[in-house]
Amino acid sequence: MTDLADLAKLFRFVLVRTSHPGNIGSAARAIRTMGFTRLELVAPADFPSREADALAANAVSVLAEAKVHDTLVDGLAGATFALGLSARRRGVNLAELTPREGAAQALAAAARGEQVALVFGNERTGLENEELARCHAMVRIPSVDDYSSLNLAQAVQVMAYEQRLAMLGDALPAPPEHDEPPADAACMERFFEHLAQTLDDIEFHKGREPTTIMLRLRRLFQRAQPDERELRILHGVLADAQRMASLTRK
Ligand code: SAH
Repeated sequence: MTDLADLAKLFRFVLVRTSHPGNIGSAARAIRTMGFTRLELVAPADFPSREADALAANAVSVLAEAKVHDTLVDGLAGATFALGLSARRRGVNLAELTPREGAAQALAAAARGEQVALVFGNERTGLENEELARCHAMVRIPSVDDYSSLNLAQAVQVMAYEQRLAMLGDALPAPPEHDEPPADAACMERFFEHLAQTLDDIEFHKGREPTTIMLRLRRLFQRAQPDERELRILHGVLADAQRMASLTRK
């Protein structure tokens, strides 16, 4: 698997017909925090701009490298997989994905070496149908129906975060191994027998039927998957309890 930064270079965030330069700056910051650097601007209303620089904070390098295009097709040049982010279901025949599903598909494309575009629309009007038609699937952040539209830069942040999470998921370390393998069934059985005997010896059941409690205790210890060393400690505890019980009986 390629290095995360190399993989991130295959991704571009495309902002289409953005009205407010502040949103471009905030979007630059949002993608930079998630390890992405490539921003493509399609027909922005106002760029470059001091407001964009101010909101980009330490991500101004993303703005400095951002390219401005006349059309979305230019902004998508070289990308073979594009996801269009939209708050509303449009009259286009596109698969609708959650950000997580979209990020997984985008990662799969990038892992094959393809360039990926994540495309965001204008603040007021969103992506037009012809713009969505250039995408391979639509991603809708599952906001509430009666107020579905996020701020543009916040939508960029959500998608960039999901994309990073998907990328980290692949690189995640394997869960820690046990120091020792869990004890086998025969060892567990000996432990349960010792446990049952001890509960009798300490008169735990007080005339109640032991079946249910033994089943519950079995479930508890099975879930813990103790190894042999841990079972030896538990046997030791039980043996001491038995010894104490026999002393009090004398
Ligand atoms: N009324 C517009 C909202 C524009 S918000 C619309 O219906 O799409 C500006 C951009 O932010 C959108 O074009 C989209 O790319 C992104 N966005 C905002 N809310 C979103 C959501 N719930 N799901 C996906 N993208 C969203």
